[in-house]
Amino acid sequence: MPPVPAKSVVMKFGGSSVADAICMRQVASLVGNALPMAPLVVLSAMGKTTNGLFTAAHAAEIGDLPTALEQLKVIIQNHRRAAEDLFDSSVPDDLDHALTDAFGQTELLLRGVALLRELSPRSQDAIASFGEQLSSRILAAFLLHQELDTTWVDARNVMRTDNTFGGGQPDSEAIRELAKTSITPFLGPGRVVITQGYIGATEEGLTTTLGRGGSDYSAALFGAALQAAEVQIWTDVEGVLTCDPRIVPGALPIPELSFSEAAELAAFGAKVLHPATIQPAVEAGIPVTVRSTQHPQGRFTTITGEVHTGRSVTALASRGPITVLTVSSSRMLAQSGFLARLFEVFGRLKISVDLVATAEVSVSLTVEADTSLKALIKELSSFATLQVAENRAIVAIVGERLKHTAGLGSRVFGALSDINIEMISMGANEINLSIVIKREHEHETLRRLHAALIGSNDIGGTP
Ligand code: ASP
Ligand code: MG
Repeated sequence: MPPVPAKSVVMKFGGSSVADAICMRQVASLVGNALPMAPLVVLSAMGKTTNGLFTAAHAAEIGDLPTALEQLKVIIQNHRRAAEDLFDSSVPDDLDHALTDAFGQTELLLRGVALLRELSPRSQDAIASFGEQLSSRILAAFLLHQELDTTWVDARNVMRTDNTFGGGQPDSEAIRELAKTSITPFLGPGRVVITQGYIGATEEGLTTTLGRGGSDYSAALFGAALQAAEVQIWTDVEGVLTCDPRIVPGALPIPELSFSEAAELAAFGAKVLHPATIQPAVEAGIPVTVRSTQHPQGRFTTITGEVHTGRSVTALASRGPITVLTVSSSRMLAQSGFLARLFEVFGRLKISVDLVATAEVSVSLTVEADTSLKALIKELSSFATLQVAENRAIVAIVGERLKHTAGLGSRVFGALSDINIEMISMGANEINLSIVIKREHEHETLRRLHAALIGSNDIGGTP
């Protein structure tokens, strides 16, 4: 039996963490400190590079080559400037060649697209993939320059996907096998392996991407393939916060978050990783941490399959405007027949419903504010009457232990004694208690509930 390799740590840095030379130096120092943990660094493209590549590709598609090349020029300047800043203007030859080569290939692709005026998802992926290739080349060269034992790995040799260009489906089995030959031999305490997020390749070697924002997904997939000790998502916030800090300035980083809690918060647009992207790590039992590149010693959030903290409410999130529909049965149909009929109409019209609360002869539901109600009103008129209340907001109270918390309701109602709660619904997974209020009360509701249910001490466990 070969020796069991030391567990490694995956460190993923997002675009804002590698936006320029200053940021890259900070990343290099974090990686240097993590050397004993056998880091695999997964990098995003610098700043807004991917957006720029998309803009260039779309300009080429309509035959506007000058705009496409102008965009590319900006991208080239950003990367050259970062490299020159990092190396005090003496960029090593091999980095210089790698960059020149990558810029040349991108230009060739853009010219091809402009000639054909055709941008297939496959061509688009080929173009978009250069952001990560460039950023990782620059950082790898800089780490080497800092005398770190560095290996640059082309993610396309490992991140095997199907041929769904623009959103490749990863093949975990193949990735695990490929990692054994292309990553593991170079991993170890005192060494660093650096690769790209977001990009992959088909079995035939065609470049694919995992879809926009796919670097977190890459990190989780690499982590699962390597059975890493931890997947670290380095970003520009100190972990996942208890509420949007622009609304509740006292919002705090959540020390521990369960995967289901993260999913609930993400559904409400909370600034949190999309849970689907970290699923491979969570399924493999690998903790995912969200950490701040600027405050590496500060607080952070650990997301795991289950949490065991004693707190009752983990976080708050909200969404608005939404519309509340109250549908009343006009013929006093038995409830069961009424509901079946009602949801059949919603299903057929493809109107997606968020919250539902039922009473004897009426049902309240929430839908997105931009839902077109004309057809719905027409369809329902034969058996029900419909009341529409617009400009409402949903506030979600999220926590694994909600259902075990006695007196939660009275704390909620107490905090909102002068704000009318129009609807209340406990999610079927029992970790989300949602209330509906007028949109004008959304922020005040969040502030009051944060003070009453989370405060600054209740969260516990902060270092
Ligand atoms: N660079 C890619 C994007 O901007 C992937 C990522 O940053 O996660 O979508
Ligand atoms: Mg990103």
